[in-house]
Amino acid sequence: MLRLTELRLPLDHAPQALEQAICARLAISPAELEHFSVFRRGHDARRRNAICLVYAVDCAVKDEAAVLARYRGEHPRDSHVQPTPDMRWTPPVTNGAALAARPGYRRPVVVGAGPCGFMAALILARMGLRPILLERGKIVRERTVDTFALWRRSVLSPESNVQFGEGGAGTFSDGKLYSQVRDPRFLGRKVLEEFVKAGAPEDILYLAHPHIGTFRLVSMVEHIRHEIEQAGGEYRFGARVDDLVLDPVTRRMQGVRLAGGDVVEADHVILAVGHSARDTFAMLHAQGVEMQAKPFSMGVRIEHPQSVIDLAQFGACAGNSLLGAAEYRLVHHAANGRGVYSFCMCPGGTVVAATSEEGRVVTNGMSQYSRAERNANSGIVVELRPGEDYPADPLAGIAFQRHWERQAFVAGGGDYRAPAQRVGDFLAGRASVSLGAVVPSYKPGVTPTDLATCLPDFVVEALREALPRFDRKLKGYAMEDAVMTGVETRTSSPLRIPRGADGQSLNTPGLYPAGEGAGYAGGILSAGMDGIRMAEAVACDMAGLPQLP
Ligand code: FAD
Repeated sequence: MLRLTELRLPLDHAPQALEQAICARLAISPAELEHFSVFRRGHDARRRNAICLVYAVDCAVKDEAAVLARYRGEHPRDSHVQPTPDMRWTPPVTNGAALAARPGYRRPVVVGAGPCGFMAALILARMGLRPILLERGKIVRERTVDTFALWRRSVLSPESNVQFGEGGAGTFSDGKLYSQVRDPRFLGRKVLEEFVKAGAPEDILYLAHPHIGTFRLVSMVEHIRHEIEQAGGEYRFGARVDDLVLDPVTRRMQGVRLAGGDVVEADHVILAVGHSARDTFAMLHAQGVEMQAKPFSMGVRIEHPQSVIDLAQFGACAGNSLLGAAEYRLVHHAANGRGVYSFCMCPGGTVVAATSEEGRVVTNGMSQYSRAERNANSGIVVELRPGEDYPADPLAGIAFQRHWERQAFVAGGGDYRAPAQRVGDFLAGRASVSLGAVVPSYKPGVTPTDLATCLPDFVVEALREALPRFDRKLKGYAMEDAVMTGVETRTSSPLRIPRGADGQSLNTPGLYPAGEGAGYAGGILSAGMDGIRMAEAVACDMAGLPQLP
């Protein structure tokens, strides 16, 4: 097979145009093209009057070697025609079931049933290693009820919410599934294929910017649980890991202690607890597990009518079903030295209450697969620096987050409503007393106020500079009535738990820090990829095989 990339066709191209473009690129006749499939489809909207679709295709041609040699001869510097890489994932360990049948076998433990944890457990289970997955929260359907209780009735369940429970932090989300991380082993493809098997829409395999949406994520997470259980894995819910059991001399993992005191014995523990497991991080720190402060970002969530964003991005093509609701990505380097950027943009979605702790307000965004809600929302966040904005010790970023989340809770009225402000008022430096044409989607509601009371001064300064600049790129972005809701603090983990090339903690052998909480992922896809990587590392160690590169 050959992979052709950068095939550009007009948005309204005829169905046969793609085949014609392939033949033209390869200088072959239609009879020489045996078959083809779309590997990736994106769009280029930089010129609003000439938006085009950009394809990558895999095709089988007669006499592939000759076609490729001729193409390379005629286009020596062009890399847009290549042999299709082999993207299949193969398990590094094939005798897992025999290992697991040995007397005294200790099952690997995965802590956290987010995308990192459930992908790790799935891979371990498929290799026959019978993992145990410990999750502090509840099964996803029960968790959904608890999460809606905060959004509808201002009742927070600290162990079962947007951050905690089966499926992890991304379950109530837009389910964006792309990542910028290097992926030479095509682990991202493996994650997407497993998601499709579990019920995700097939278009995630070829769209350049795929998303799933909340409802489908929920049932997908259930399917994956059934797969893991059928393959010999085991889930335990309401199983919060509160301590590590370590060998007193070597610090080797011997197991984990659950809230309530039960010990689960294990030599291999993948720790995939996400970025909001603040109590767990404190426990790890007290246990002496090596960790470092890591930069993260904070700011607000901003809402505009989706129609404003569609028009700014797509002009006359706004509403075209191939383009869908428009996304955006914005960056500005502020004069105070801070990067300001859009984060986790959700077209046609809603702003959600995302706290996991009582007395705090945190924003994030989600949408359904249809992305059909009235507003577009996105985090607009400013870089923070440990050692400059707060002390450099590993837990200081958490204290910083807590402080501003508390300020937001107070400014919102102390009942989980969030503080909100019109962009016009924010730029003019006055508190909002009412909101305008853009109706905020945050539930259980917002309180118009001055967001400057719940953000550090340098963040306010950078945001005030960035919004008018963003308006130059996206017309209408700084519209008076756009609504900002705060505060957006859970952008990534404020710390990192370093690991060696074998995946293990630098000073606690047998502990495999993984996913977003440990600083090895930023998003659903990269967390899933890291889960696969850590499952492979554990399996190789158990089987006495060399680690994969
Ligand atoms: P998590 O998903 O956070 O999972 C960690 C799990 O560990 C949780 O289930 C938690 O309950 C459990 N846990 C924590 N501590 C313990 C303990 N001590 N014992 C037992 N269990 C424990 N990313 C995207 O790529 N696209 C999006 O569209 C997107 N939208 C988002 C929307 C929202 C509202 C939120 C909150 C996040 C969103 N994200 C999105 C980010 C994404 O969810 C995370 O990057 C991803 O879930 C990280 O995966 P993880 O497995 O590392 O951690």
